[in-house]
Amino acid sequence: MTDINPSLSRLQGLLDQAQRIAVLTGAGMSTESGIPDFRSANGLWSRDMSLAEAVSIDYFRRDPAAFWLAFRDIFHLKLVGGYQPNDGHRFLAALEAAGKEVTVLTQNIDGLHGRAGSRRVLEMHGTLLTASCPGCGEVHPLDYVERLALPECRYCHGVLKPDVVLYGEAVPLIEPAFDAALAADLLLVMGSSLEVSPVNLIPAEAARAGIPCALVNYTPTRFDALFDVCLRAGIGETCRQLRA
Ligand code: NAD
Repeated sequence: MTDINPSLSRLQGLLDQAQRIAVLTGAGMSTESGIPDFRSANGLWSRDMSLAEAVSIDYFRRDPAAFWLAFRDIFHLKLVGGYQPNDGHRFLAALEAAGKEVTVLTQNIDGLHGRAGSRRVLEMHGTLLTASCPGCGEVHPLDYVERLALPECRYCHGVLKPDVVLYGEAVPLIEPAFDAALAADLLLVMGSSLEVSPVNLIPAEAARAGIPCALVNYTPTRFDALFDVCLRAGIGETCRQLRA
């Protein structure tokens, strides 16, 4: 690595020193795989409601058919199987393969960290790859969900709910996520606007506990002051210059 970018050198130093690394990732992690981050608000569904309303547990309960229409539109459900991990996902898996204890705390629902080879992944907002029946609990895979306009349980015919955490639902893995961040000796945040609660409170807790924090994100966040290193750069170009 050259010394042209001091922030990059500093991040490399933090990575080299750390043995236990927590990595908080957001939608920006997967843009280089072709998955857009927060979707531009131009779908039919967006005329009368915000994204948060469209992807909410209230809307699902009120009008499941309209919910599924909006949900597919927002998350490009049909395409998700074809996306591939990018250099960012692969770098985190390589860190783990190199002997670091890496726990990925992801807000993403695309499954790409696991596909890249990361073994300790907390999918805090759930996964797009399955949907479950709220009635009997049966889990259904994406290829089944994709075939039906209104996906129903193949056993009891209840309308399936995607296994993602919808607005208005609790984040079930938030406690283990805070625990992993507070047990780490480095918190690295990649590709998140840090606008979604309660996940966006993790860096403040880590910084308060004296854990070094680093951020790789194109745009500023309102929490930038918490970070020891802030790289306003692409995740792929950054990871290609780092040594695992
Ligand atoms: P966000 O869309 O609010 O923010 C993404 C951030 O990543 C932005 O600040 C942007 O500047 C930055 N960014 C984008 N591409 C980048 C790159 N290549 N390199 C560096 N920085 C890059 O995302 P969020 O904070 O994760 O919140 C969005 C919510 O929507 C989350 O709750 C998430 O569950 C959901 N979501 C998930 C996916 C997915 O699974 N891939 C996609 C869209 C939205």
